[in-house]
Amino acid sequence: MKEARTTATSRWFHSSEGHNRSVNELHKHVDQEEPYRWRNIPELIYKDEQGNATFKDVTRRVLFGEAYGQGMEVRYFEVEAGGHTTLEKHEHTHLVIPIRGRGAALVEDQVVRLTMHDLVYVPSWAWHQFRADDDSELGFLCMVKVERDRPTLPTSEELEMLRHNAAVADFIRI
Ligand code: MN
Repeated sequence: MKEARTTATSRWFHSSEGHNRSVNELHKHVDQEEPYRWRNIPELIYKDEQGNATFKDVTRRVLFGEAYGQGMEVRYFEVEAGGHTTLEKHEHTHLVIPIRGRGAALVEDQVVRLTMHDLVYVPSWAWHQFRADDDSELGFLCMVKVERDRPTLPTSEELEMLRHNAAVADFIRI
């Protein structure tokens, strides 16, 4: 019977825009206009906050956000050749899956070369930064919870500590 399914699919919830939308209105399939460019998913600036966060040539696309009511987000970040994300740490964790191009990452005290479809787990309060190679973009999926703390940037003392490790010193970009 049709009625049996109505409750599950007509649930209402509060979206990030501050108005109610039904789960039914969300798309079931979103195709790509070109590779890694999904229809009607806008390219956003990497970080909204004003401040000292340093990064270079990074874009953000929210593939699965608050509107889905799951308390989690899946974003697609793309770092242009030679670019990098912010060196930061925070309480919330990430799962990162590189899906395009080439690059490397700092996770806690390790610099890791990324292979497409690797899994990169960023634990709570672990320093992390992602860099594209000089001759290739790096695109990755990043999962986070919706309710999360703001990233913390390194103090000069923390930078000094990080730089005790030669590989880390060589990798990080501020
Ligand atoms: Mn982060």
